[in-house]
Amino acid sequence: MVNCIFCRIIEGKIPAKIVFEDDLIVVIEDNAPVAPLHMLIMPKKHIVNSLDLHDDDSELINRIFQVATRLARENAVAESGFRIVNNNNEGAGQSVFHLHFHLMAGRRFHWPPG
Ligand code: AMP
Repeated sequence: MVNCIFCRIIEGKIPAKIVFEDDLIVVIEDNAPVAPLHMLIMPKKHIVNSLDLHDDDSELINRIFQVATRLARENAVAESGFRIVNNNNEGAGQSVFHLHFHLMAGRRFHWPPG
């Protein structure tokens, strides 16, 4: 999608620190991290948010969680704890309208989140 910053990153038109990439997803480092480990896991295809998911996206969602937990293990935060966050629409804090999951770790998180 033309005006989507994450689509432009995926297309290589805007620089980003790419952590992982496969046929379905891209993982980048968040450029304004709120935790020592803060990555964004996103589909290569443009999906606005969870409300825009369809039945045939089940493999994609499965892949996102497989990669998230693998990255947590590889970064040695699986046991200490990590958080996966997906904001949907402005009231929940979504600022980029291309589906993404925040993978955050490396500090103590509070509940409920702010
Ligand atoms: P959300 O507010 O849930 O939509 O999350 C969007 C996230 O994208 C925020 O944590 C931003 O810091 C991050 N972000 C925005 N632009 C970029 C970029 N060009 N490179 C990396 N992360 C970005």
